[in-house]
Amino acid sequence: MPTNHLQDDDRGHIRIAIDDVFSIAIQALLHAGLSSAQAFPMARTITAAERDECFSHGLYRLPGCVETIKSPKFVANAIPVVAEISAAAVRADARYGYSPLAFEKALPLVEQKAKTAGICILAINNCFHCTALWPEIEALTERGLAAIAMTSSHSWVAPAGGTQPTLGTNPFAFGWPRHNERPYVFDFATSMIARGDIALHDMGGKQIPLGWALDVNGNPTTNAAAALSGAMLSFGGHKGTALSTMIELLAGPLIGDMTSSQSKEFGEDTRAAPCHGELIIALDPALLGWGTEAANQSSAEQLLSAFAGQGARLPSRRRYEARERTMKNGVRVPKALYERIQSLLPSGGPM
Ligand code: NDP
Repeated sequence: MPTNHLQDDDRGHIRIAIDDVFSIAIQALLHAGLSSAQAFPMARTITAAERDECFSHGLYRLPGCVETIKSPKFVANAIPVVAEISAAAVRADARYGYSPLAFEKALPLVEQKAKTAGICILAINNCFHCTALWPEIEALTERGLAAIAMTSSHSWVAPAGGTQPTLGTNPFAFGWPRHNERPYVFDFATSMIARGDIALHDMGGKQIPLGWALDVNGNPTTNAAAALSGAMLSFGGHKGTALSTMIELLAGPLIGDMTSSQSKEFGEDTRAAPCHGELIIALDPALLGWGTEAANQSSAEQLLSAFAGQGARLPSRRRYEARERTMKNGVRVPKALYERIQSLLPSGGPM
């Protein structure tokens, strides 16, 4: 039980072993009424984020997940339906449950199709989505596949030059498998920062940097609460806005699902996570590489190794370093969050 591993580290944090993060997550989700089929993949995803010190998608998400489970629009025992669309496309209808189970159920067919056709497109529909994308990307790179993932969210972001929340925070992720190294993976919101990070600033009473958001009157703000009720900004000005618009179109209308503003309207009277579609593209370098896989891998390694020695780093290096550290030493959870999570556990629970 987790109590064996709890330590108070005197700087406002509690140290918890990784296994105990999972134990807390699974108990809170099951106690909220989520089916075990849905709960296990979600608890694994939350644990992975906490382990990699992606705090906005770790235990911090648990209260929001529980809130989503209570929403009348969420189906706590949803069983996703996976179907072939074509030789190179798969649909996973999440049936208004969470996205991780739909992804896990579709993964074997996606792998098989990508390794037969060279490419497989996975359309996940009708999923409540509140996770980072890199766990799915890593599941594909582990299978030797390159991968792209994108999803919309709720319309919280103003387009470049505008002031009205129109686009989602729309994350975009990519992974490249490497033979003797951890994969190259990036995963970022197309807003300046994930909304969860602004909420964390708000919770901690911290200001946000100028350039992240506008207040309700369209003025730049450093106040996290004003940003949450105003409009967030795209990264990279018009370039981020265009990328975000592409994500809206590909993870929405292309696959018969909602845009961020439709999703926001759908979730209006609830405090649930956004419900919409997700698009994943898996590509097989072995099949597409024209029979020169070793040379291709060597070209890729030359590119990636050129980052070293000039002050640059590869994305995900911080995550991989955090993973090594936390697997040994556990994670540090702010006491306030830790106490909040206790109320989600069955009484007499592990804490
Ligand atoms: P960050 O800006 O924190 O990081 C984005 C990516 O850039 C990471 O891959 C990170 O690697 C990498 N990176 C950061 N700094 C550097 C650097 N100096 N050099 C090279 N690479 C770097 O991410 P965001 O705040 O934009 O997004 C955080 C998460 O939120 C994502 O996982 C995203 O999927 C998720 N999200 C989910 C949404 C949803 O609806 N489900 C909505 C919006 C966001 P590293 O991790 O190693 O630092």
